[in-house]
Amino acid sequence: MIQSPLAAVAIGMKKPIIYWHRQDLRTDDLPGLQAAAASGRPVIPCYILDDGAPGHWAMGGASRWWLHHSLVSLADDYASRGVVLVLRRGETVSLLEQLVQDTGADSIFFSRMYEPWASDLEQKVNAAFAEQDVQVKRYGGSLVFEPETIANLSGKPYKVFTPFWRRCRAGGEPAVPKALAQTITQWSQPVPGENLADWQLCPRNPDWSAQWHHMWSPGTQGARAKVASFLRQGITNYSEGRNQPALQCTTRLSPHLAFGEISPREVWHRARSAAAADTGLEGQVDKFLSELGWREFSHHLLHHFPDIPERAFKEQFRRFPWLVDKGNLLAWQRGQTGYPMVDAGMRELWQTGFMHNRVRMIVASFLTKHLLIHWRQGANWFWDTLLDANLANNSSGWQWVAGSGADASPYFRIFNPITQGEKFDVGGEYIRQWVPELSRMPDRYLNCPWEAPQSVLESVGVALGDNYPFPIVDHKCARASALAALASLGEN
Ligand SMILES: Cc1cc2nc3c(=O)[nH]c(=O)nc-3n(C[C@H](O)[C@H](O)[C@H](O)COP(=O)(O)OP(=O)(O)OC[C@H]3O[C@@H](n4cnc5c(N)ncnc54)[C@H](O)[C@@H]3O)c2cc1C
Repeated sequence: MIQSPLAAVAIGMKKPIIYWHRQDLRTDDLPGLQAAAASGRPVIPCYILDDGAPGHWAMGGASRWWLHHSLVSLADDYASRGVVLVLRRGETVSLLEQLVQDTGADSIFFSRMYEPWASDLEQKVNAAFAEQDVQVKRYGGSLVFEPETIANLSGKPYKVFTPFWRRCRAGGEPAVPKALAQTITQWSQPVPGENLADWQLCPRNPDWSAQWHHMWSPGTQGARAKVASFLRQGITNYSEGRNQPALQCTTRLSPHLAFGEISPREVWHRARSAAAADTGLEGQVDKFLSELGWREFSHHLLHHFPDIPERAFKEQFRRFPWLVDKGNLLAWQRGQTGYPMVDAGMRELWQTGFMHNRVRMIVASFLTKHLLIHWRQGANWFWDTLLDANLANNSSGWQWVAGSGADASPYFRIFNPITQGEKFDVGGEYIRQWVPELSRMPDRYLNCPWEAPQSVLESVGVALGDNYPFPIVDHKCARASALAALASLGEN
């Protein structure tokens, strides 16, 4: 290989290792970075924004905002160690080749990803450097249990969560996370990189993210703060409270985990330590670990069944008579369906980049079963608007609700958006927060304002069809249509 002038200056030094960051924007408990640092050779960390490789799964708008701030945080972390994070944008293989040429590096280390496009990219990187004198090494670290290590008695992947999780837990506690040794040998030469601001990842004109700085703190420190506050408060009532969106009993860690700012092993061990300090918390911590388990399971499924994001896992659902209805899709996206619990969720999502899990299930059920709109339309909207958009969790979540997934909720279990609201938003705090036009509505009618007498509506300033919509579908009719659609598949 021809050495560039920069690399030539450095002749005599040990050759550097490139650490290629992907969805692992942290420095602690990152096996590949740990190995690079431990080698004693200089380490050049880089991040490449490659919008071509993922195809239609390129990052959505909300994730881009998170990425910007997460990279700022990662660059600060490296700066505190005297190391520069190199940023480049474009096609990954050629940019890595360029970086090797610029620096004379002879190794590239990275953490694996599980998305089909990302696995293809790993193979391309391997192939590109196989002929050259450059070592390419892949490490784990983004999951607690690598998909190949968990199989059933016939050696096949699991398709049902409970036995999968039992098998994971049978192996005992995962290894203790390792912080990165304080010293990374820095590369003495400047390496050309790009300016993060030039990537324009944050929205402008209009800046719909203006409030997000008050709600979110991307980066490892923000992730640790979320875990700490959860273990002080939310954990004590997690099993019950996790279903009540107004209570904020869950961690809100999902965007941090999606970007790999904290390792799942670290979260696991922090939760375990809390249970060790207070044995009364053991049951709550087990429930919490099982939710991390669903993340593991989704990735297990995506790895073994890579077309899950694109088509129904259960074959018969590939014939489902989905409707195309732009008007209803738009009403759902905007939180204007006339069902307050659904509208609250969709507006929370738009305004905060997040939606509580219980409400995700309610809005997804409404789209697929009340409106009979394809789950992929919902998954696409979530992809663009969720800060935690993650292909494994999103695809599994949607297929679970739609009834077409591996270990799915049965299709005939159709959430009633009225009773779901009454049950999981007791007191109506969540709806009143996100649908302020109903804030003065008495509890009795909060989930079904169309049943309120005209005098009540007038007294609380609600004019249906004017400042809040009539329901776009009737619950009973929609339920009957959904069951008829199911029957057309021969499923009952
Ligand atoms: C239709 C639908 C779409 C979804 N899309 C996504 C997505 O794109 N990205 C995403 O991270 N999650 C997704 N989920 C799963 C879940 O809603 C979120 O992970 C959860 O709401 C995040 O909140 P939390 O961090 O407070 O969760 P906590 O209750 O604090 O759980 C801790 C962590 O466990 C994981 N987790 C919890 N519940 C689930 C679950 N059901 N499936 C997989 N992992 C879980 C998450 O990483 C979460 O951060 C989706 C669920 C549904 C029903």
